Amino acid sequence: MTPLTDQTTLNHPDASILQVTGLTVQYGKVAALDPTDLQVGKGQIVTVIGANGAGKSTLLNALMGALPPKGQSHGSILFQGQAVQGWDIEQRVGLGLTLVPERRELFASMSVHDNLLLGGFRLHRAGVRGWRDTLDDVYALFPRLHERAGQAAGTLSGGERQMLALGRALMARPSLLMLDEPSLGLAPRVVREIFQTISQLRSTGVSILLVEQNARAALHVADYGYVLETGAVVLQGDAASLANHPQVLESYLGLSGARQRT
Ligand code: ATP
Repeated sequence: MTPLTDQTTLNHPDASILQVTGLTVQYGKVAALDPTDLQVGKGQIVTVIGANGAGKSTLLNALMGALPPKGQSHGSILFQGQAVQGWDIEQRVGLGLTLVPERRELFASMSVHDNLLLGGFRLHRAGVRGWRDTLDDVYALFPRLHERAGQAAGTLSGGERQMLALGRALMARPSLLMLDEPSLGLAPRVVREIFQTISQLRSTGVSILLVEQNARAALHVADYGYVLETGAVVLQGDAASLANHPQVLESYLGLSGARQRT
């Protein structure tokens, strides 16, 4: 694969909800993430695209404070203006950070409805009034989940499970929703549906950090993008420009130079 070396910064917003500077991750002696800078503007959809093993999940887990015991991270993470590096997961969730992991981690034997209620548990425990109202918003966003409210999560289709994972995360009313490869293992039609929903979420004001191997779908919905290769950001820019960058076209969108010109 041709290494990407440009560091173009285009139209990056000033009002950031997340500002990451010099973030590194090591698994033992192995460096999984080189010093990385990244920003998410308020209300923006920002994507990080990259191949298998590029370090995408590592980045999200470091932001969430959810690295495995062997993983060590350093650097600055400013979320909503607060330095959260060193905070545990619960504290980060409390400040409005939520991660939908690649494995989706639903409670298979529990109903769709109960999985969603669990997503709102922290707000319930904190005595936040009206937390249950979010359920109506989630069901409005995912009518299919409403139809299947009583069904066990383990019996849902792959796409429905992804919807439930998204819906459950939204029940926590996050200000930054981090999605780890929501398209993984889904048929193209279902991928389109999930990405339409992600795009719709923009209107709710939630900011989104979307990690994806499906560069085409991710750059289509995102405002801004980063390309991660072997633990380093090698290219960044507004999503439309990245989608037309010759090296992204060739390495991530599978289009040769000849096809670009047609
Ligand atoms: P994929 O798209 O396949 O999920 P990714 O871009 O999310 O890949 P990561 O899972 O973050 O990549 O992995 C980045 C690197 O860190 C890889 O070389 C991987 O082998 C290594 N790595 C990930 N988790 C661990 C771990 N718990 N212990 C040791 N090395 C790890």
